[in-house]
Amino acid sequence: MTSRRSFIQIFPLAGALALCAKSVVAADLPNVDPKDPQAAALGYVVVATKADKAKFPKYAAGQSCAGCQLYQGKAGDAAGGCAIFAGKQVASKGWCSAYTKKA
Ligand code: SF4
Repeated sequence: MTSRRSFIQIFPLAGALALCAKSVVAADLPNVDPKDPQAAALGYVVVATKADKAKFPKYAAGQSCAGCQLYQGKAGDAAGGCAIFAGKQVASKGWCSAYTKKA
């Protein structure tokens, strides 16, 4: 039986482990490979200015993952998650044709 005292001793440790696990997971996400079929289909590039403007005329100067509604990284991060590419991270300076301006 778990006593109140042992719960109080375990609870902070569990919280610290959860925080560590969360930060490790975010840092360990693999980068999206622009050659990956899904990424290629969406015209994903690591540097937005390299977007294929002929194939993706939707691209406009100034657009990048950092300003996209689907970007999950924090301001100033070099990379972060993206709702389109689950389990991977995209470059904050990247771009793809699913770009949706942040509200
Ligand atoms: Fe970047 Fe947005 Fe495309 Fe994701 S959906 S790769 S955040 S432009």
